[in-house]
Amino acid sequence: MTTFQDLGVSAPILKALEAEGYTQPTPIQIQAIPIVQKGRDLIGLAQTGTGKTAAFALPILDRLHKDRKHAGEKSCRTLVLAPTRELAAQIGDSFRAYGKFLGLSTAVIFGGASMHKQKQAMFRGVDIVVATPGRLLDHVSQRSIRLDKVEILVLDEADHMMDMGFIHDLRKIATILPRTRQTVFFSATMPPAIEELAAQFLDRPEKVSVAPQSTTAERVEQAVIHVDQSKKQDLLHALLANKGIKRALVFARTKHGADRVAKKLESAGFSTDAIHGNKSQGQRTRALDGFKKGQTRILVATEVAARGIDVDDISHVINFDLPNVPEQYVHRIGRTARAGAGGIAISFCAPDERAYLKDIERLTKQAVPVMETDMSLRTPRADERVVRPKGPAGRSVHPARKPAQKKHHASDAHGNAHAKQGHAPSRAREEQGRNDRGDRRDRKGNDVWSNAGPARRLKRKPAVRV
Ligand code: AMP
Repeated sequence: MTTFQDLGVSAPILKALEAEGYTQPTPIQIQAIPIVQKGRDLIGLAQTGTGKTAAFALPILDRLHKDRKHAGEKSCRTLVLAPTRELAAQIGDSFRAYGKFLGLSTAVIFGGASMHKQKQAMFRGVDIVVATPGRLLDHVSQRSIRLDKVEILVLDEADHMMDMGFIHDLRKIATILPRTRQTVFFSATMPPAIEELAAQFLDRPEKVSVAPQSTTAERVEQAVIHVDQSKKQDLLHALLANKGIKRALVFARTKHGADRVAKKLESAGFSTDAIHGNKSQGQRTRALDGFKKGQTRILVATEVAARGIDVDDISHVINFDLPNVPEQYVHRIGRTARAGAGGIAISFCAPDERAYLKDIERLTKQAVPVMETDMSLRTPRADERVVRPKGPAGRSVHPARKPAQKKHHASDAHGNAHAKQGHAPSRAREEQGRNDRGDRRDRKGNDVWSNAGPARRLKRKPAVRV
């Protein structure tokens, strides 16, 4: 069993790691630390949750500690680039935590915060700067930060930086940095565009990779609930009424959607906050802090705002909307499986999101079990007419399901004819349809609830608890 000591991590850092409760290095740390220690360039294929921050922060802190020198005014010796403010702040916190017995200085530079304070922080020079690319370039053009003394460059979540359109900023930064330097490059995915970007920054890099995306998915207990879009909010309230959900991160696809969901939760008395791109930096920081400290039980977030968020003990991730990019699903559910821990992810799937669910299952190579739902939620509204699934289209969705037992005198043929004439099914047929067949369809024949899991392709039992 490899220990941090075996990896040659120096004593003051070991002490800090002990305080953090790290007993053993994670696989990415075991692979990456020796390479960074040697001074080699590195490409790491790893996503948040694998311990990648410490994989680069520990050897960098070690090097800065062993070879102490002053960076010079407005300069830094290590530059870490990250796509979002939250991730930058988090990486800064990690450097401070791991290096708390070293006396090295760290500054975090991102947009939406006071330029003046950042200038002051940089005035004498610091050992480590963690920055988002846009704000860093603002400082460079105002000559409040210089990059000519950078010895080590880290690009974290490179794929996300590309997604966010930072490619031009990154290219510009590359031209300003000294050519002789060590570069560490982390990305969760490595499509050709990211390989090209890596080639621009790296010199004969060594490669390490851990936990391909699908394996995070295997650690998280997952479930999907098929639900009509209009019923998602009620379903969310019903789920969150369960006190077993200690800390939930709820994902919505849009900023407005996140706001709407959060407002309704709040007015229903749930301790909730929201985090997305339209919020000011102060609001985002406060929301995240409250959530981290356990003051807020539910955080509603959009994809971008939540990427890289590292909050311990998120017991549940709830996808109010399914993401249309399947990799995002893996990132989202990874929020509840930090550093090897497990977690629960529940996704709401409206009829028009089924194609997204299929893409997700294809990527993770596992069927997402369909969750048993609280029957009370399935009671139709008074104004709602329920039509039973008709013919093979309804059955083909769940081929393994047993035929319904007859509890009512009416035959299927009778029921179908009844429905074709535009009549609502009888109460007894409804009960039979919902309880035995386990599904229900809306007026257009869309399946709004499914109570039976797809038996085929299922790798694990749908043993989800909430
Ligand atoms: P990261 O992938 O860097 O975002 O790290 C994910 C989480 O794992 C963070 O909460 C870290 O504090 C934690 N972590 C990193 N390395 C270790 C370790 N060796 N042992 C326990 N937790 C760790």
